[in-house]
Amino acid sequence: MSKSNFSQKKSFIDLNESDSEKLIKEIGEKPFRINQINNWIYNHCVKTWDEMINLPRSLTNQLKKKIRLHPLELIEISGENDKINSTQKFLFKTIKGNKIESVLMHDNNRTTICVSSQSGCILDCNFCATASMGFLENLSSTEMLDQVLHLASYSNSKITNIVYMGMGEPLMNYRNVMKSGVLLKNKMGLGSRRITISTAGISSKIRQIADDNYKFKLAISLNASDEDTRKRIMPITTKYSLSDIMEAADYYYKKTKKFITFEYVLLKDVNDSINAANNLKNLLKTFPCKLNIIPYNEIDGDYKRPTVKNIEAFLSCFESVPFIVTVRWSNGTDINAGCGQLAVKELV
Ligand code: SAH
Repeated sequence: MSKSNFSQKKSFIDLNESDSEKLIKEIGEKPFRINQINNWIYNHCVKTWDEMINLPRSLTNQLKKKIRLHPLELIEISGENDKINSTQKFLFKTIKGNKIESVLMHDNNRTTICVSSQSGCILDCNFCATASMGFLENLSSTEMLDQVLHLASYSNSKITNIVYMGMGEPLMNYRNVMKSGVLLKNKMGLGSRRITISTAGISSKIRQIADDNYKFKLAISLNASDEDTRKRIMPITTKYSLSDIMEAADYYYKKTKKFITFEYVLLKDVNDSINAANNLKNLLKTFPCKLNIIPYNEIDGDYKRPTVKNIEAFLSCFESVPFIVTVRWSNGTDINAGCGQLAVKELV
């Protein structure tokens, strides 16, 4: 790599081992400096070159001139982290200049980061705020890793879980998402079982995860228990039908023996009837899985959250099922950081 290739368009975090060695050599420093730098990045989550206080000033000055440290530029943080179980939302600009958001959530002894895999989203689920942005770009693996590095530096507690439930459809950016999961494991020591990839149901890719033998957890956003309702709220169903997705889920379970979590966003008068609950129960009753009910987080639009009474009536249908049912009351809805509320209105 020639000198001029270390431009501000690429960050140090983007470099592979041999390119970072070349860079350090070009500056006239010894290779052990790379270990020191990586220790600052991955164990101390520093934001700037200047914080790497055991490096010679001449080296940090050269690095500053040659290359940026992080691929993402942090633009804004919403929400406070001073209360227990707080939620904060982070707005970033990508190398290409698009905007994305990530969420840091503290919930008792879990600290979870919700990662975006795309700027905007390639799908068009009509109850989700991200859809209103359209699709801008697939994020690189390091842009996903970098969301975690930035948010970890603002967290008072160790990161315990990563969920790919921010903007975007992870399985439509398969290669980079899987690569970022591996980076989280190798660089930050996060076990695969602590990383959940959530999909709207791209069946071919669900099969591919099983074939490629990735150990991450899988969540499928089912959101409807019959083809017609699902087609209405998630147009991707025209391409990947509900039955197709259930077959892929079955293939995944048989091959990996790993439980899938099915997510079901509860929308008033759309999918919250007792009939829909019974259909859902029948669909999942022989399937080793978990069901996560998400009362809808309202955004501008026609969809509404069912009343607490209706949510309870829906849940009561699942009292004696052979799988675990949980309800996710999203935190951070006051700052539009709840599930499906991520969208950047003013684009660069
Ligand atoms: N594309 C992926 C990941 C992003 S959405 C997927 O579909 O799984 C993450 C979860 O939030 C999905 O289960 C989605 O159905 C849900 N969701 C989207 N909009 C929502 C909203 N306004 N309120 C509650 N949940 C929502």
